[in-house]
Amino acid sequence: MWLREVEATLLPPTAVGLGERLRLAGFVPDLPDVYCPRCGESVGPHEATMGGCPACRDAPMPWSRLVRVGAYDGMLAQAIKEAKLTAFRSLARDLGYLVGRRVADAMHEAGVDPRGAIIVPVPTSFVRRIVRGIDHTREMARGAASAMGCTVVVALERRHRPSQTRLTVKARARNVAGSMTRRHGVEISDVGPVVIIDDVKTTGATLREAWRALGGVGMERRWAAVGGVATLTRRRTGVPSI
Ligand SMILES: [Zn+2]
Repeated sequence: MWLREVEATLLPPTAVGLGERLRLAGFVPDLPDVYCPRCGESVGPHEATMGGCPACRDAPMPWSRLVRVGAYDGMLAQAIKEAKLTAFRSLARDLGYLVGRRVADAMHEAGVDPRGAIIVPVPTSFVRRIVRGIDHTREMARGAASAMGCTVVVALERRHRPSQTRLTVKARARNVAGSMTRRHGVEISDVGPVVIIDDVKTTGATLREAWRALGGVGMERRWAAVGGVATLTRRRTGVPSI
């Protein structure tokens, strides 16, 4: 215990592992009943079923199930930003590991073996990868795969477009549409679940584009997994973007 205190007092916060930081902040990953299993938005008791919540039930969705660690807020949001903007590789992996644990739980619940899954990271453009010094989503995918005992397939690539961060809902959809393509020669197995992973879901435009580009996977095998789900009001909190 005293060692933990020393660690927390003497070391800069970035040197402390994610699990420890979240524990110190009293963070607990969300249980499945506090968010919609389809769009990932926070819901009240019995507000959502496997068919969705009042907000998404009538909207077509290119995946059958979405898993999140939590709302994009507080310590979780800080960890996600830090992994991305400070090229903090081990933090991105730890975040991915947390996502993977949640996905594995959801798959067990659904009677699906997570070891047979394929994780596909939402791609980062070459320019952004160079500027940031990290492809944090790919690192997250690796962390998730180690939690699930499955493999990562880097199946998508992305053309550079302006950051989605400060755009309106419509502008986001327009900005990301057609930006991703499936990499040549990459095979996706025709059995088992396929999970597209991203750090944050806001409008869902990026995940939609990723599923459009990947294609060729039956609806019941399509999963989406994210660290945090942001509401649109939280979008304007001045998150730095590159
Ligand atoms: Zn919903």
